[in-house]
Amino acid sequence: MTHHYLVYIAAGLLTCSLLAKTPNLIIILTDDQGYNDVGFNGCSDIPTPHLDQLAANGVRFTDGYVSYPVCGPSRAGLLTGRYQDRFGFTTNPTIDPGNPDAGLPKSEENIAEVLNKANYSSAIIGKWHMGSHTSNHPLNRGFEYFYGFLSGGHSYFPRNYKLNDLTEVTRSWEWYNTRLLENFDRIDVQEDYLTDVLTDAATGFIEKKVKANQHFMLYLAYNAPHAPLQATEKYLSRFPDIADEKRRTYAAMVSCVDDGVGRVMESLRRNHIEDDTIVVFLSDNGGAITKNASDNGALRGAKSDLFEGGIRVPFAMQWKGTIPAGQVYSHPVISLDIMGTITALAGVKIAEDRPLDGVNLLPYLTGKNNEAPHDQLFWRKWEQQGMCIRDGDIKLVANTQKHKNWHQLYNIENDLSETKNLRKQNPEKSKELLKSWEAWNDQLQDRTFPTLMADKWWERL
Ligand code: CA
Repeated sequence: MTHHYLVYIAAGLLTCSLLAKTPNLIIILTDDQGYNDVGFNGCSDIPTPHLDQLAANGVRFTDGYVSYPVCGPSRAGLLTGRYQDRFGFTTNPTIDPGNPDAGLPKSEENIAEVLNKANYSSAIIGKWHMGSHTSNHPLNRGFEYFYGFLSGGHSYFPRNYKLNDLTEVTRSWEWYNTRLLENFDRIDVQEDYLTDVLTDAATGFIEKKVKANQHFMLYLAYNAPHAPLQATEKYLSRFPDIADEKRRTYAAMVSCVDDGVGRVMESLRRNHIEDDTIVVFLSDNGGAITKNASDNGALRGAKSDLFEGGIRVPFAMQWKGTIPAGQVYSHPVISLDIMGTITALAGVKIAEDRPLDGVNLLPYLTGKNNEAPHDQLFWRKWEQQGMCIRDGDIKLVANTQKHKNWHQLYNIENDLSETKNLRKQNPEKSKELLKSWEAWNDQLQDRTFPTLMADKWWERL
């Protein structure tokens, strides 16, 4: 054997050992799914065997949060690992394809941009919602592959996709009916249901990356079970006993997502990469109960609230062989921790002027650290002047400034449904938490773009 070959073998072994420590990442995000709408949180009328298996293979977080109670800001936090109000992403942005500022600011690095430094190949499949201007297109924001739609929601039936793209929009919500995009190309699809189409694209991407022997990050952002409530007979027929038509359709939509998760997991197993892949599942905000008939269980409130029903979501993670199976983790964690975890594992340096708010969860999930990952978690609704801070079992919340009981103090551990306001009995604790929140608030920016509904951008096209 020549010296030449030995160098190759040594390089190969080194690569293998590095690869073994740096997993693929799949983030499966649902839209407006309620805390109680997964089997692993106790759902009784919608079986979710594949999501339950994912949680059983690793950890389910009882107190898993997102950083905002509606879609856009929550996703901006998830994708940057930072509280989105640090960069003014305080509301759902306008869908205006002519506005380069309505989306993730260019000054922020998102998860795909950061992972590119560790030679990951990243895909976003599904809902983007991080800006419709070309400069904010996923392929201009670090992603190698995009399959889906740019706006904040979509019709589930491809037969409705009558508009070529956003430039043909003439009124609100018409963006739900644009043709899908594959990278920069408008495409037509044969299948008749969007959730299945997105699952196909996800498994196709995984197969391609396995063949190319490439590390990957897949952000599978299903728009289900966000309104409009639309499902196929195949899934509706699974729920003959749900009398409420809205709940029945919602159940069918969740069931289709669960089948999709099953197909994604099956493709990992088929390709023998399940042990090399972290899979995280969560919803982008709490259930929008009145809109989609979702169920937040005992949690107070719904989507758009800073009560638990708006910000606490179904949340689970598996990494077979590394995260011990069957865990129930009850210290608070937040969607921002996904970025904290993967960047630590990939050994990527984070810019000093943009520190992450998320942390690496691995030491906490492998028993190396028994402390809570976060001393305090924070939320702000800038337009409504709402605030929220969670500190251990205690939470101070003001859902909007207009709310009569401005600043309510709850013990979440004893009073999950936030029914007993303890502020009057604990004025010092309330003051202390408000002070902590204000110190955090001082670091934030005001809104930097028009909101979703305030701006009739199509009249300018
Ligand atoms: Ca949402």
